[in-house]
Amino acid sequence: MSPVSFPVRRTIGALAAAATLLSVAGAMARTDEAVDVIIRGGTIYDGGEGEPFVGDVAIRGDRIVHVGRLGRYTAARVIDAKGMIVAPGFIDPHTHADSFLRSPDKAVRVNAAWLHQGVSTVMIGVDGNGTPDVAADSGKLAASGIGTNIVPFVGFGPVRQRVLGQDARAPSAAELDAMKALVAKGMCEGAVGLSTGLFYAPQSFAATSEVVAVAREAAIRGGLYDTHQRDESSYSIGLLGSVQEAIDIGRQAGMPVHFAHLKALGVDVHGQAGAVIAAIDAARKAGIDVTADQYPWLASGSSLDASLLPRWAVDGGGAALLKRLDDPAALARIRAEMQDNLRRRGGASALLLIAGGFPWTGKTLEQVATEWKLDSRDAALRIIRQGIMAPGQKGGGTAVASFNMAQADVDLLMQQPWMVTSSDGSDGHPRMFATFPEKYVHYVRERKVISLATFIRQSTGRTADIYKLDRRGYLRPGYFADVVVLDPAGYAPRADYVRPRELSVGVQSLFVNGALALDDGRTMGAAAGRALLRPRPAGCAAGD
Ligand SMILES: [Zn+2]
Repeated sequence: MSPVSFPVRRTIGALAAAATLLSVAGAMARTDEAVDVIIRGGTIYDGGEGEPFVGDVAIRGDRIVHVGRLGRYTAARVIDAKGMIVAPGFIDPHTHADSFLRSPDKAVRVNAAWLHQGVSTVMIGVDGNGTPDVAADSGKLAASGIGTNIVPFVGFGPVRQRVLGQDARAPSAAELDAMKALVAKGMCEGAVGLSTGLFYAPQSFAATSEVVAVAREAAIRGGLYDTHQRDESSYSIGLLGSVQEAIDIGRQAGMPVHFAHLKALGVDVHGQAGAVIAAIDAARKAGIDVTADQYPWLASGSSLDASLLPRWAVDGGGAALLKRLDDPAALARIRAEMQDNLRRRGGASALLLIAGGFPWTGKTLEQVATEWKLDSRDAALRIIRQGIMAPGQKGGGTAVASFNMAQADVDLLMQQPWMVTSSDGSDGHPRMFATFPEKYVHYVRERKVISLATFIRQSTGRTADIYKLDRRGYLRPGYFADVVVLDPAGYAPRADYVRPRELSVGVQSLFVNGALALDDGRTMGAAAGRALLRPRPAGCAAGD
């Protein structure tokens, strides 16, 4: 027997079976197969690399059962999608949607800000913030009734805090083992990977080798390394040094690397997008799976503390910071370093205070400093101080939109074959309510930075591939019925920096797991979102 005869026979057998299936399908079509929903006559972008085509999508239960020209199907509901775009529900790989998803109010938990953009799945626990208690937390969220699917990360922040608190020191061997066990627990409970936010204290206190050691626990369980990298600017190791650190972490831990909200932040690194791309392309050529997401805005969202304070000043947390601010020598050092951080970010006029409900809401740091007759650093410190004293409100009022990106860098990064769309949606910044239509209107339609097909691919199938989502991100028979129908002429953002909480428009219908979550531009109250947990990976002990 030649080595090929068995596969050949198998192929012939498979062809015969396929022929039988085809004739069965034909017979069923002749007798009017019943489905729940038919989306008829839309221009279908199926999430893949292929050309769009006009056709129908049939949904039964929570699944897609047919994509293409339909025969004689009957459906309880037919949506006329002529002239509309029909695509997989969008996937947002970097969100801070928790404030909605964890609301006691079910009407808030439907996550309308994302539904109105056509988003059906959001990642949570990003920037290193995800709890290691993945099963309990995600299970509770899903059971409470949420409008979008969630994909959780286990985060380096809670892991390090549980073991080391806010301390700026290296862990002992036993402490490192404790951190590794927490990451393993999160992965065994279904996390998609390890997220880090090495820019933020206390995660910033971790050496590269420490991150590699804990990331390996995610790597051996099939997870990816998702990072708000250590430096997007010129704060510490510099943008290019930071990109290289993340790539090194992926190589040493043996796992894919994903850059969250990739950007060149601040005047010192404007124009470095090309060098970032070269580093990523070189790593990919060397066999490391490196990808990134990006939001289509020139301002980032952050806090005054994270933007302006040196990291040593916050070692030990808020109380320790207050002590230093009361020590004239320490204060002088802090103010000196703040001056450079202000310059890096484009000055006090480039920082817009966006936390709602404060006397300074909607003003730039420069305007507030002028009103208070203070140096802008001292105005910032006054706001930071009151945030520590009254931490109840979101961020204590320190949230800022920081206008620090160059258009040419944003455009160039967007055009890369490993880039996907994310919102980084957080309170006060319009990106939470408007990222996907903002990108469609300003980057696809008006400025033609990318094509419509690329925009949809960057918001669906490519994202699902990066995170290995099971039967999501594509319109294919057997896949889960996350489907968006949107009006190409009307799909548009309404939110801006002044009014960041305006719902986007132009999504006609959105299905989440086959349930109609949004129809005729209105949310339907469906809370059909699920926790998309990874199946238990190999390398998990029975008790894990
Ligand atoms: Zn981030």
